[in-house]
Amino acid sequence: MQDYDAVIIGSGPNGIAAAIYLQQKGLKTQLIEAKPQPGGATKTGELTLPGFQHDIGAAVLPMAYSSPFFEQLPLEKYGLKWIFPDIPFVQTLGNGDAVACYKEVEKTAKGLEEDELAYTKLMGTLVTDWPKIANDILGPLGIPSHPLKFMNFGRYALLPAKTLANHYFKNLKSKSLFYGAAAHSTLPLTNLVSASFGLVLTIMAHQNGWPFPEKGVSSLINALLAYYKDLGGELILNKTITSSKQLPSSKIQLFDLTPKQLLDIEGLNFSKTYRKRLSNYNYGSGVFKIDWALNEPIPFLNEKCRKAGTIHIGFSPEEIEISEQVISEGKIAEHPYVLLVQPTVFDKTRAPEDKHIAWAYCHVPNGSKKDCTEIIEQQIEKAAPGFKKTILKRSVMNTKQLELFNPNLVGGDINGGRQDITQLFTRPVVKISPYKTSNDSVYICSSSTPPGGGVHGMGGVNAAKQALKDHFN
Ligand SMILES: Cc1cc2nc3c(=O)[nH]c(=O)nc-3n(C[C@H](O)[C@H](O)[C@H](O)COP(=O)(O)OP(=O)(O)OC[C@H]3O[C@@H](n4cnc5c(N)ncnc54)[C@H](O)[C@@H]3O)c2cc1C
Repeated sequence: MQDYDAVIIGSGPNGIAAAIYLQQKGLKTQLIEAKPQPGGATKTGELTLPGFQHDIGAAVLPMAYSSPFFEQLPLEKYGLKWIFPDIPFVQTLGNGDAVACYKEVEKTAKGLEEDELAYTKLMGTLVTDWPKIANDILGPLGIPSHPLKFMNFGRYALLPAKTLANHYFKNLKSKSLFYGAAAHSTLPLTNLVSASFGLVLTIMAHQNGWPFPEKGVSSLINALLAYYKDLGGELILNKTITSSKQLPSSKIQLFDLTPKQLLDIEGLNFSKTYRKRLSNYNYGSGVFKIDWALNEPIPFLNEKCRKAGTIHIGFSPEEIEISEQVISEGKIAEHPYVLLVQPTVFDKTRAPEDKHIAWAYCHVPNGSKKDCTEIIEQQIEKAAPGFKKTILKRSVMNTKQLELFNPNLVGGDINGGRQDITQLFTRPVVKISPYKTSNDSVYICSSSTPPGGGVHGMGGVNAAKQALKDHFN
């Protein structure tokens, strides 16, 4: 007799998704979390002043909204309400100009002037095809259900972002817009597959927008956990697992952890070969993150920036390219590409009346302890002169502080491992099912498995499906 059918360790979006899936299938499960607050890198809290609710990790959740798993769950019933900014994302340009990615492909394309036709041709088909290929792209490598559509996406997605942008677009606006989306990859834009991030995120903007939960990302986590508990699932907080002996007895264990942490847990009985393969896993760049409590909205020069939830700051394609390139050389650009989110322009629940919050980060080398406050704020100041005067208080996190907040953020890597061509599809090791380990009862379900980083829960669901098939069929 076992205490549970399955125990899941780590309550990030992937751990929760795995727990819900197995509980839905009738298994008895327990979800164990080290920290007092669940959610992993998807968590809201007061980082600056009382009444200012900041997202400590993830902030904008297009992948959660479009997740083939989360979208089936009755989360609105559990209090989740989505907020849709007027414009999904905007890219700053020089001289106070900016270019927008609207929900509508045509409206976006119009803003790209001579590239209007090229953008419509490229994105139109991909956006239409997305619902048919999403499950294949968000799952482990296998035979796709719509091979031609999948291959059509793949022929663009495998390219370096720079190659794709220069091949399809003529003007700086289109190139900058695409570079800003592709830079989410945390890869140099000359690397293979860096285009895939720009494409997937842009497709999502056109499919559904780039929404975030009202009151912050914890609203998603709270809704998921309330549903999980209603299904009969058990959540245990404040329990850090360092040895298998701490776990209740169960047929299977799913770890929402990255390889480095998994290797530190005693008693998992991995083979020598598997341990060696896990120890070769590579982590990607880190981030330096700032949260601000603000006295007023950010005074962006450009109206489009004032209407967008997410603003990519960088003032030319070259500047964004250099910013992402020098990180792989262990350096930080003087003028970094900055990702900025301004939730309170659209959600008044998160700050006292007439006050605001903002969230931003730039990419840095893994493990960097450099304070990037000044260079980030300088970049914002160029797009929004007077920004610094609006700051009431700031909270900063370098890569080490991020790792203390959540041990999965190894060296400040927010994606659970480098997402380059060698690891994007075959993380954490090359295996027919990457969720399986060398121990038949132990699975890995974090963002260190396909499809990788982001709040979508699909790594968790894919691992749970595999475990169910292996042990309960
Ligand atoms: C600053 C930042 C910004 C981001 N922005 C976005 C964004 O805007 N949109 C987006 O989609 N994604 C974003 N992400 C990425 C996203 O948050 C992650 O990809 C996602 O949270 C990964 O989910 P996960 O379940 O794999 O792991 P995690 O969310 O990392 O959860 C892992 C959990 O396991 C727990 N744990 C670890 N070790 C143990 C142990 N030994 N015992 C028990 N519990 C343990 C941790 O405490 C944690 O709660 C961002 C991340 C960061 C850090």
